Amino acid sequence: MYADDLAIIAHDVTTMQAALYSLETYCLINSLQVNIQKTKAMKFRLGGRLSKRDILTYKGQSVEFVPRFVYLGVTFQTAGGIKAHLNSLQSKGIASCAKMASRFPLSKMSLNTLGRLFHSMIWPSATYGLKPLRSKLTPRSLEYLTIVQSRALKMWFGISKYHSSSSLLAAVDWTPMSRLGNEIFLEGVTPTDTYMPSGDILTPLVATRRKAVGKWYGNKLHELWCSKPFCFKPQPNCTCRLCGTTNISPQHLGKCAWFIGSGCDPSSPTVKEIYVIVSLLEHRNH
Ligand SMILES: [Zn+2]
Ligand SMILES: [Zn+2]
Repeated sequence: MYADDLAIIAHDVTTMQAALYSLETYCLINSLQVNIQKTKAMKFRLGGRLSKRDILTYKGQSVEFVPRFVYLGVTFQTAGGIKAHLNSLQSKGIASCAKMASRFPLSKMSLNTLGRLFHSMIWPSATYGLKPLRSKLTPRSLEYLTIVQSRALKMWFGISKYHSSSSLLAAVDWTPMSRLGNEIFLEGVTPTDTYMPSGDILTPLVATRRKAVGKWYGNKLHELWCSKPFCFKPQPNCTCRLCGTTNISPQHLGKCAWFIGSGCDPSSPTVKEIYVIVSLLEHRNH
């Protein structure tokens, strides 16, 4: 039988050693064994090296000091911060995204279903152990959650991780989760409902053009109106194929006379409006 995950906390190394002696005695009386190879010590401090007096032993064997340790799924680090834990949550969240994509036919699922899958499969592993750390969480420290959130979205679109996250999130009207801050664990808040609405914004495109739409947005839509084929980023000699303007900027759509003339709102083109452009272009080419 294993009795796992015992932790002893002390303010100094002498008290800790005394506690280890007590543990030795307790284990002797109760016929228990400690696996000294798996036993690690951590000294929480603001900086600097270990002192020569930082030695702990159990049954005459020395206990190894480590700079970080995963205890009950939470990564502890000697400087006391939570960065290491948040980094591991990001990896776990992204691994869960990959697992979701391998188990479910995402390309056939609605955005609403993706939100629900995210909530049940990804959210728990990507936020594990954060509740007691609530007061330390800031929007900045939660930026990793936006990375996980947009990774799930990219998998749903079927596009690579290198595309622009911000324009993809905007395309489906999702708020970056890093805005959550420590309201993340308020009672009654279901982050996926609040930050990942399921709107029907993509409905006309979902069936046939999801991947193409994802790529357009992931490339900040430049590809759509650049006259050069397969051009994804504005370059000095790019020309708008809608209105003929040369040297187009990433914000060109807001000023494009042809686009404004087509009746679309240029301030924030939605997917539906992009769909209009595409059909107009296709019509013109025929
Ligand atoms: Zn271009
Ligand atoms: Zn133009």
